Amino acid sequence: MKLRLFRSYFVFVSLVSLVAVAAQAATARLLILHTNDLHDHVRSGYNGVGGLPYVSGYVAQVRAGRDDVLLLDAGDVTEKGDLVAFRTNYEMTYEAMRRIGYDGVTIGNHDYDDVGEEGVRRYEKVLGQPLLCINILKADGTPQFLPSRIVERGGLKIGIIGAIVPRKERCLDVEATGRAIAAEAERLDREAHVVVVVCHEGVKNCERWSQLAPAVDVFVSGHTHQALARPVVVAGTGARIVQAGSYARTVGRLELQVDPVTEEIVAAQGELVPMRHDTVPVDEAMLAWVRAREQELCPEAGEFVIHNPADLDGFAVARLGAEAYRRAAGTELGFCTRFQVIREILPAGDLDVNALFLAGGQRGHETVRTELTGAEITAYLNALARQNGERTEWAGFRVRGEPDPAGGERVVTDLDPARRYRVLMARIEWETRFQRVVARTVEKKLGGPLAAREFTATPTEVTFTGAMRAYLGELAASGVSLPARAAELAARQSAEAR
Ligand SMILES: [Zn+2]
Repeated sequence: MKLRLFRSYFVFVSLVSLVAVAAQAATARLLILHTNDLHDHVRSGYNGVGGLPYVSGYVAQVRAGRDDVLLLDAGDVTEKGDLVAFRTNYEMTYEAMRRIGYDGVTIGNHDYDDVGEEGVRRYEKVLGQPLLCINILKADGTPQFLPSRIVERGGLKIGIIGAIVPRKERCLDVEATGRAIAAEAERLDREAHVVVVVCHEGVKNCERWSQLAPAVDVFVSGHTHQALARPVVVAGTGARIVQAGSYARTVGRLELQVDPVTEEIVAAQGELVPMRHDTVPVDEAMLAWVRAREQELCPEAGEFVIHNPADLDGFAVARLGAEAYRRAAGTELGFCTRFQVIREILPAGDLDVNALFLAGGQRGHETVRTELTGAEITAYLNALARQNGERTEWAGFRVRGEPDPAGGERVVTDLDPARRYRVLMARIEWETRFQRVVARTVEKKLGGPLAAREFTATPTEVTFTGAMRAYLGELAASGVSLPARAAELAARQSAEAR
């Protein structure tokens, strides 16, 4: 991006003749193809859109026509995706990416938080190249992973810097990350024509980083799952920020015209290409490989469960999940949070076991059984709403809202306050919702039923996918439609219209 007048071979060239040379020089083209938040979508997507075999087919098609293509990924390769990738400890998606041939991949929070350095090193082995990340630190304060690399493409040298959304521990904060990117970009800019940051971070912080690091030309962003139809141009620096949605549904393409002498980007045009199965060529070999891996690791993934006449949103899926949990465990009550456990809708069409896994299988894989009194359950729902502004979905009792004497609204349930009920929920809801609510209640000395005792829970064999498969299979056999049952559950949850 910078006009570098003092490069050695230009030292004796006057400014006037330099500008003349620059004007005459042909511009070089660079096409950046980019993905982010693939989240283990290695299979063909539902509803005729998405999946890594289509990303692969598209990239191969583009590369067949030109040799100036750079392929980057902004992280969150793993989790929240297909059952087969889950069964490979998330390694399979990196293997698919190795087959596709990426030039730079960074680390997302989903690729790091649960597995740490050991996991990232495992992923690097499968990918066949180091993952790029400048802001995760070793104990001595130096970068834990490779911060950057330079790639040559179409006669241009491109410096690629990786960054993750700032973490709480052993990671630079937003400002320090921006300064580190600035220093690295300055260093790379001595050799590279174009500097790209491939970062698992949304547009807002990319804008901040651009102000701190004006030598960066392009930010390939992620994390916020935004489908930016056109690049965001940063005021003041002119840097472009791009992001291509999530779940391998689109591939971003950013076409750059670069003046190789001044290293300025003279034109940039960005768009998103939907991975539609009727318009994008599929990589048949990758499709066959995914199917073979599935046959080997989880043949049940492709088994038909039920036909779904209309998309079901995450809240409806969570209600079905709560009911499915309750039935599978034989408990009186079930819980299932929309945002913590459910990560995907149930799409219209024929649903297989993999579709259930995509909806909540990964987060809902581990479950716990516990006993709570009616008063404690009511307190949980109210505390969740008050402390986190959240709700969970439930099955086995009714709830209605009423004005809270302390202000706002509170819920009351039809449960017997003194009776103990057997309850099932995902371990993640137990640990990150229930326990947190209890801890805060106790910590803030609010008193009430949740402050009164220690809570314990026991792991169970019930899984979200297994419970839903059994429950929806019963529905299919009895001829009840899925949306009708979801509506019935909503009515059963509530004593009044919701
Ligand atoms: Zn993500």
